[in-house]
Amino acid sequence: MQPLIDHARRFGQRPEEFAPHAAGQSPAVLFVTCSDSRVVPALITGARPGQLFELRTAGGIVPPYGTGSPSGEAATIEYAVEVLGVEDVVVCGHSHCGAVGALVRGEDLSAVPAVRDWLAHAAPDGAPGSPDDPAVTDAVHGHVLAQLLRLRSYPCVERRLADGLLRLHGWYYEVHTGAVLEYRSGSDTFEAL
Ligand SMILES: [Zn+2]
Repeated sequence: MQPLIDHARRFGQRPEEFAPHAAGQSPAVLFVTCSDSRVVPALITGARPGQLFELRTAGGIVPPYGTGSPSGEAATIEYAVEVLGVEDVVVCGHSHCGAVGALVRGEDLSAVPAVRDWLAHAAPDGAPGSPDDPAVTDAVHGHVLAQLLRLRSYPCVERRLADGLLRLHGWYYEVHTGAVLEYRSGSDTFEAL
């Protein structure tokens, strides 16, 4: 923790650099990804403050819309789309994802019931993919596409898509190489960006 504190102390020594951000934000992209510490959206994309609106959840899961209870995830998506008017949404899965791996391997999550119940949102019937693949590549690819489908069930997303004001992107990030792949609907495969 100490190195992080030390860096944070030095970070605020250039206030003039950050002053313009007081005027507000107008990010063009909502970036949805896993909470995994190896995935650093600003590092991957080179984004500066104000450029990426982020939604990070365990497994990068987009919960179903309209379950009746308040949802921080739904609020984040709605705010990004309706208020900020983002033009693109990226759902970025990643290799070696613990959440997707737990689904693929059918791990016993009874000791972490909140995690178990949350993952049940993602794949109630279990995720496809090989339990022998430590990167769970195929499973994460399918997982990303499933989350993109979920996004489309949000009325605000559906409306903006219909109006041609929003684009959805499925990305796959390799934590062990730094490579980023993108889903191409034409070939139904993930290919280099
Ligand atoms: Zn993950």
